[in-house]
Amino acid sequence: MRQKLVIGNWKMHGSLTANAALLEGIKAAPAKAKLAVCAPFPYLAQCQSLLTGTQVSWGAQDTSAETRGAFTGEVAAPMLAEFGCAYVLVGHSERRTYHAESDVTVATKALRALESGLVPVVCVGETLAEREAGQTEAVVGRQLQAVLDALSIEQLYCIVLAYEPVWAIGTGKTATSEQAQAVHAVLRAQVAGKDAGVAQRIAILYGGSVKPDNAAELFSMSDIDGGLIGGASLKADDFLAIGNA
Ligand code: PEP
Repeated sequence: MRQKLVIGNWKMHGSLTANAALLEGIKAAPAKAKLAVCAPFPYLAQCQSLLTGTQVSWGAQDTSAETRGAFTGEVAAPMLAEFGCAYVLVGHSERRTYHAESDVTVATKALRALESGLVPVVCVGETLAEREAGQTEAVVGRQLQAVLDALSIEQLYCIVLAYEPVWAIGTGKTATSEQAQAVHAVLRAQVAGKDAGVAQRIAILYGGSVKPDNAAELFSMSDIDGGLIGGASLKADDFLAIGNA
């Protein structure tokens, strides 16, 4: 049985004051799922200071595909590790769309994260146009395959996958639990094509307008191992309710 994992993606939200209140609220109550928050880079030190020794882990929302050098504005995985990050998102649809990140770049970022002892949370998902054109499996399959090709079996044991249909992110439109389960099962089968043991162990999170009132149904599906939560991770009560769903 895989332990449920719920990761908050704060995106470009927060302030020192608001974060302190949010983190105090999150760490104050127990949750059935393992919890983590992915904060903007400047707030990682605050997360480290307020969450060390608690049951809540923290991470970043992106990492560079490089380890050091003349890459102005980039943040390397070894730097994230220095701030105690356990996780880093790679390939979030907002990075793929606004920063033209390719499948190979995303896979390289996953490698860099693993080299620094971080768990990459590899995000995949189709747009509405792709779903309507019947291309969902082809698109998420292509995105996943780049990672399966780049990582060893040993490394694949240390990653998390997140299925986030782009049309469900921040829109209030959630995939039905059946729609999400169907894609998760396809992703797990594809991982099994590389290694059956990894497929059994790997956590595949669902993301896209998960809220306290739809989390339990989504998380009850056999291949949905938790959630990647955007908007609802900014309210301690909502995030905790999802972590207990
Ligand atoms: C996300 O940004 O990863 C996400 C799932 O956002 P939301 O929950 O707001 O749809």
